Amino acid sequence: MKRRLTRMLAGAMALLAAPVLALDVVATSPSMGALVRAVAPDAQLTVLAGPDRDLHSLQAKPSMIRALRGADLLVAVGAELEMGWLPAASASAANARILPGREGYFEAAAQVPLLDVGGPADRAMGDVHPAGNPHVDLDPVRMAQVAEALGARMARLDAANAARYRANAERFGAAVGQRLPQWQAELANAPGAVLYHRDAVYLLDRFGVPLLGTLEPVPGVPPSGRDLRALAGKLGGREGVIIHAPYQSPKGPRKLGQALGWPVETLPLSPPEDADGDGYLRHIDRWVSALGKA
Ligand SMILES: [Zn+2]
Repeated sequence: MKRRLTRMLAGAMALLAAPVLALDVVATSPSMGALVRAVAPDAQLTVLAGPDRDLHSLQAKPSMIRALRGADLLVAVGAELEMGWLPAASASAANARILPGREGYFEAAAQVPLLDVGGPADRAMGDVHPAGNPHVDLDPVRMAQVAEALGARMARLDAANAARYRANAERFGAAVGQRLPQWQAELANAPGAVLYHRDAVYLLDRFGVPLLGTLEPVPGVPPSGRDLRALAGKLGGREGVIIHAPYQSPKGPRKLGQALGWPVETLPLSPPEDADGDGYLRHIDRWVSALGKA
């Protein structure tokens, strides 16, 4: 009897000690997951795609649908980046709380000014981003703004912990602010980069690093031999670095790197899947050091 009582007491104590944060969050990418961990470290979090996956063209899987079914909040990059698979997965999950327009649906790209808006290319020409460039997650300053908006959203969804969400978002913003001068100094004389896709333009733009070209002639269209020769001709005699994501074909980057004598770097767009706010900052460190290698 006494032992049973002890066990019951221990159970009650464990319940009391458990985190009170009740939010169940799904993030589409590890960048978004890192932001969720920065703002709500105790939230239950599912990240739908690892850093080696291409968010433009994922397949909706049963495990994703299961995660979405119970979610209070879905954190997406947005600006149509995930439109090929996320709406279908959300519809299958039949969870009205996380549908676009609802409090449980959050888009990073909707919180900050976008680049590449209203360009000449459109979807008919093969452009995968007619709504503007969605890849805001490589700009740490925009990510700090997104964190603040995410903190405010979480505060509305879980009022009991509102102050914690806001304080955590603020702390992440302060950490970004603290790192900025060092990144700026490291990239002050960076000669520029060629990207495969316009997926790191926010980072280049933030630090004034010239974008010397993209291997894709139009977002979403792989380069032909002729495109590569044209790029090599245009950039001959200059310095720079070529950076591509793990899921983009390394062939074109390697060819161009050989033609120009430039370093070629393979870098994921997102930090590791288990990254938190600090992990995100280390991910930016890696990009900064790659851009400085030219
Ligand atoms: Zn893209």
